[in-house]
Amino acid sequence: MDSGQIVEGLRGTFESGLTRSHDWRIAQLRALRTMLRDEEDRIAAALQADLGKSPTESFISETNFVVKEITHTLGHLRRWLRPRRSGAPLLLAPSTAKTLLEPLGVALIISPWNYPVQLALAPLVGALAAGNSMLLKPSELAPHTSSLLADLLPRYLDSRAVAVVEGGVEETTELLAEKFDTIFYTGNGRVGRIVLEAAAKHLTPVTLELGGKSPAFVDDSADLKTAAERIVWGKFLNAGQTCVAPDYVLTTPAVARKLTPQLYEAVRLLYGDAPRGNPDYGRIVNEQNFDRLVSYLPDGRAAVGGNHTKAALYIAPTVLTGVRADAPIMQQEIFGPILPIIEVADLNAAIDFVNKGDKPLSLYVFSNDATTRSAWTLTTSSGAIGFNVAAAHLAVPSIPFGGVGASGMGGYHGLRSVQAFSHEKALFSKPLWPNTLALLRPPFTAERIKT
Ligand code: NAD
Repeated sequence: MDSGQIVEGLRGTFESGLTRSHDWRIAQLRALRTMLRDEEDRIAAALQADLGKSPTESFISETNFVVKEITHTLGHLRRWLRPRRSGAPLLLAPSTAKTLLEPLGVALIISPWNYPVQLALAPLVGALAAGNSMLLKPSELAPHTSSLLADLLPRYLDSRAVAVVEGGVEETTELLAEKFDTIFYTGNGRVGRIVLEAAAKHLTPVTLELGGKSPAFVDDSADLKTAAERIVWGKFLNAGQTCVAPDYVLTTPAVARKLTPQLYEAVRLLYGDAPRGNPDYGRIVNEQNFDRLVSYLPDGRAAVGGNHTKAALYIAPTVLTGVRADAPIMQQEIFGPILPIIEVADLNAAIDFVNKGDKPLSLYVFSNDATTRSAWTLTTSSGAIGFNVAAAHLAVPSIPFGGVGASGMGGYHGLRSVQAFSHEKALFSKPLWPNTLALLRPPFTAERIKT
C-alpha cells in the first residue's frame, strides 16, 4: 500500500465514527499499556541494540514512562472529555456557553531516535485519547525499535485506526505530501521547518517538539554537591542524547572552581571509575554523531573524562573547562555526553548570555536564592524552568511539556496531549424565549444603544 492508500484507509476509519467512542479510546489505551508490559523484554532488547540503553533506564525513561502517562490519562479521560461550562456575558443572557474537545481526524506522528519508544508512544497516547486515527513514522536511526513498533502496534491496537510506516527522509517526504488533520513532530529544528512548510500547504496544524541548548545556571547559594549530582544525572542519561539534558553549565569563575571537582565526584558516583564497562552508561547512536561530538573535545580542557572509542561508539562522560563562548561546541545543541562550563561575571551576565541565544527548551537554575530564581523566571523565555533539578519536569503530567520559539511550538503530556490532538469546539446556546436578542438588532435607535 502506498502512503495515499494508508491515509485514505485511516480517514475512512475516522469518518466511520469508530475512534470517537469513549469506550474504544479506553480499550485502545489499555491495550497499549498491556503491550508495554507484556513486551517489555523485547522492547528493552531493541533499545539496547539501538542505543546501548540498560534495561532499567529503558524501563524508567521509555516503557514505564508511557505506562504512567496512560494510567494518568485513563484516570482522567472521561472528565476531560465532558463538555466544559464557561461563563457568558450578561448582554446575551439567558444563555449557556460550553467547550468540547473534538478529535481533529487523521494524525501524523513523526518521532526521533533518542527515546524511540517514549517519543513515539507518548504522543500516540494523546492521539488515541483524543479519538483520532493515526499514522506513526518512527525514526530510521533506531531501526530495531522502529521495526518492533511496526510489528507490535498493529497486533495490540486497532489496525483500522493505527498504522505504522517505517523509513527515513524519502518515506517521510512522501507522507508529508498527504493531507493530515494534525502533525506531531519531535526532532531537530531543521526538519521541523520542513514539516511546517509541508503542513502549510494543507493548512494542517502542527505541534513541533524541537531541541536546542538548555543551560544550567549554578550559583554559590546552591548545595554544589547535590547540584552536581543532578546535573550529571540529567546530562549523562542516555549518553547525553536527551532533548532536555543540560547542554552547558553557566556560572561564575569562583563557583566553577568549586563545582568542577563536585562534577568529577558525581560522575564517579553514578558511573564508577570505568563508565565504559558500566552497563548503565549508553552509547552514541551512530558514527556521524560520534565524529561530530569528538570534534568538540579540543574546545576545552577535559576536567572529567575526555576519552572515547569509535569502535564501541563510546564517549566517556566529559566535563570541559576553559571553553570560550564562541567555540564550535557552543554554536549548536551538543546532544552527547560533553558538558562545557561557561564562565560569566555574574547573574546579569548569565541572563544576558541566555537571552542572546534561541529560547531554550529547558532552563535549569541551581540556586536557593528566591530573588535569583525570580529573575530567571521573569526575564527569560524557555519551554520550562527546572529549579534545582534537571530534566525531571517532563515526568509531571499536569504541566505542559514543550518548547517556545526555536525550541518548538505546542505542548503535550496529560490533558495537554489530548488537547494537542483535539479541536476545542465552542458550543453556545440561547433559548428562543424570552427573545432578549431583539435588544441587539436594528433599528439602532439612540435609546436602544444606551440600554
Ligand atoms: P531523527 O534524525 O530521528 O529525526 C526525527 C524524525 O524526522 C525521524 O522520524 C526522521 O525520519 C525524520 N526526518 C529526518 N529528516 C527528514 C527530512 N528531511 N524530511 C522529513 N522527515 C525527516 O532525530 P533528530 O532530529 O536527530 O533528533 C534529535 C533532535 O530532536 C535534537 O535536536 C533534540 O533536542 C530534539 N528532540 C526534541 C525532543 C522534544 O521533546 N522537544 C525530544 C527528543 C529530541
